[in-house]
Amino acid sequence: GFNCGIVGLPNVGKSTLFNALTQTASAQAANYPFCTIEPNVGRVAVPDNRLDILAKIAGSQKILPTSLEFVDIAGLVRGASRGEGLGNQFLANIREVDAIIHVLRCFEDGDITHVEGSVDPVRDAETIETELMLADLDSLEKRLPALQKKAKGNDREAQSQVSIIEPLIAALKEGIPARKAIPAGEEKAVRQLQLLTSKPVLYVCNVEEDSAATGNAFSERVKEMAAKEKAEIVVVSAAIEAEVSVLEASERTEFLEGLGLQESGLDRVISAGYKLLNLVTYFTCGPKETRAWTITKGTKAPQAAAVIHNDFERGFIACETIAYADYVSCKGEVGAKEAGKMRVEGRDYIVQDGDVLLFRFNV
Ligand code: GDP
Repeated sequence: GFNCGIVGLPNVGKSTLFNALTQTASAQAANYPFCTIEPNVGRVAVPDNRLDILAKIAGSQKILPTSLEFVDIAGLVRGASRGEGLGNQFLANIREVDAIIHVLRCFEDGDITHVEGSVDPVRDAETIETELMLADLDSLEKRLPALQKKAKGNDREAQSQVSIIEPLIAALKEGIPARKAIPAGEEKAVRQLQLLTSKPVLYVCNVEEDSAATGNAFSERVKEMAAKEKAEIVVVSAAIEAEVSVLEASERTEFLEGLGLQESGLDRVISAGYKLLNLVTYFTCGPKETRAWTITKGTKAPQAAAVIHNDFERGFIACETIAYADYVSCKGEVGAKEAGKMRVEGRDYIVQDGDVLLFRFNV
């Protein structure tokens, strides 16, 4: 599965958000800088309106959404890269995740200590990014001398590593995160270096309740910062999300509408996390169940089939494919077939978001 790590300074609302996301009380929210020491992991259903629509058409008994994993990574602080505040432990936890959800405190509350003394989300974002860059710099500088030695001895692999690592070190020294300095075509090689700043980042602005629908002056500044680095932001009020998460689905919509919101912040965080990870969804759909499956964008049909079962990949013959829009407009599989909207695709087919698939395979 894929996962997103929730990071940020202490007391910005990470645990509150994580709890709301996973509706568990395991990540204890408290006004205390190091309250969540072990990483907490939760699986979350990915909301997708298309599921209900497909299930209705197919008369499915069950709906099974796909899921995403969230990891609550407790309070990074200034100096973490030098081991401050359990720094190394936190950094190791970040190394394990596929993407970073960076929670920024955009609410004033005199009762809740800000570790840096004042509310300034752009400064906080820079503080954390700096720690992550320092940790990456340290890890690359440690690896470089041995590789350089091997490279001199004509080790091709080492030479290629050095040619990737040296420019990354130069970029990090200038304050440029690795994700902005990946040499063309070297995405995979850089990923294997397991750097903290090569992971995609989403900024979540945690605003006070009154600003949940509109954002506030703090979140506006984050928006400007994110626009410069082409990153996405989501504005939420973690406090509201905590309230929403315990409501029944029927009460939820009304509660959100009362606050001027169309969708819960959690749904927006989950959807943005899914996008951040470059994931798309395909469906299997029948009278028994309608189910969503997650693949990375660009995945071919046999590998997409493997998400359901390894045997499906090994014995892959073809997949009957109906685009979501065709499935809906033709009112299901039979209609789509009659209208010529069902395609039989082979092993080179790149599965598209929303495809309704039926795999044919040898056992
Ligand atoms: P973490 O250290 O980043 O995990 O922060 P927590 O989620 O534990 O929150 C720290 C404190 O801030 C707790 O007392 C929360 O109730 C409070 N808090 C979280 N979000 C909000 C918010 O949106 N508004 C206000 N006023 N307090 C919040």
